[in-house]
Amino acid sequence: MKKYNICVIKGDGIGPEITTEAIKVLDTVASKFNFDLNYEHFLMGGAAIDVFGEPLPEETLEAAMKSDAVLFGAIGGEKWDNLERHLRPESGLLKLRKRLNAFANLRPAIVFDDLAEASTIKAEALKGVDILVVRELTSGLYFGEPRGKNEEKAFNTMVYTKKEIERISKIAFEAAAKRNKKVTLVDKANVLETSQLWREVVKEIAKDYPDIVLDFMYIDNAAMQLIRDPKQFDVILTENLFGDILSDEASMICGSIGLLPSASIGGRVGIFEPIHGSAPDIAGQGVANPMAMILSAAMMLKYAFNEIEAAECIEKAVRNVLKDGYRTADISRFDAKEICSTNEIGSIISDYVNSDD
Ligand code: NAD
Repeated sequence: MKKYNICVIKGDGIGPEITTEAIKVLDTVASKFNFDLNYEHFLMGGAAIDVFGEPLPEETLEAAMKSDAVLFGAIGGEKWDNLERHLRPESGLLKLRKRLNAFANLRPAIVFDDLAEASTIKAEALKGVDILVVRELTSGLYFGEPRGKNEEKAFNTMVYTKKEIERISKIAFEAAAKRNKKVTLVDKANVLETSQLWREVVKEIAKDYPDIVLDFMYIDNAAMQLIRDPKQFDVILTENLFGDILSDEASMICGSIGLLPSASIGGRVGIFEPIHGSAPDIAGQGVANPMAMILSAAMMLKYAFNEIEAAECIEKAVRNVLKDGYRTADISRFDAKEICSTNEIGSIISDYVNSDD
């Protein structure tokens, strides 16, 4: 029997609650499709700071590097907000992404037909939306040097190399080739030199993909177009900061940030994590939506283990659970048959996985 070793980092806030549900669903799908999942649990973020005094302990990093995949909940919280930057929870996550060379963050934003009404945007603009945001993850403003802050001045640096742009662009074009054959590069080329380099490099890469339509959009316009007419997008290719913001915006098109999964890939080991944070405002209440986490687990099966059927079984179960009217509080605006807790919806999805033929 095939066996996969997963480094599980539940993290802070709602991280442990939603990761528990993802593991519940993974166990069901593994026994159904006859493979074995071995989980080893490690600390990162605030939970690690409390125990080890640092956000990414060496043992977590080593375990992640040796594993077949990292399943990651979320980190952060007010308790750790005033620590020095290198000791804050997010520094641990940025370091993990960098060390695993997880430079490509794939963020699918799909509007489930049964949730079109749950969005704050009119349903007719949303039905059929299926966007993949391909966000560069290990460079740009979040990593650029020099950076600094004193009482009078603060500064960050956005740096991109040609090589960094080439490798993420190839991932975007390859993804578009399997989808609707369109890549939109989102940038700020009218102002930023980094964006001008992005345009030059992406145009070159596009020559190898003659079937793919490439277009360009400034980030400010893209933020507007995403709300005005989201169906115009297929693959959105963009740098780190713009991708972070646009994918949160895309989540509200879909109904809730609690629905959007992601895969951070590029190196030997990928990180599979929801796009949202640790949601301290709802932590411990049993109301968090675990679907983004469960769908991230499905992305892990697909991208890390090539267990395509098992991944699709989870995706189908989530779709059918929504179709049958089960909702968590964040998506319960109109048509809930039953409003479920985190634990209940995880069990229902697991049952649907089990009973699907
Ligand atoms: P957030 O994504 O945690 O929450 C934003 C809003 O969405 C909140 O109202 C929250 O209740 C809601 N929400 C998020 N996930 C949800 C879910 N699964 N179900 C239902 N509602 C959900 O963003 P924030 O409030 O800006 O940040 C909170 C903490 O998370 C901060 O410490 C931040 O640094 C951290 N953060 C971590 C990550 C990560 O671990 N990858 C990403 C973003 C933010």
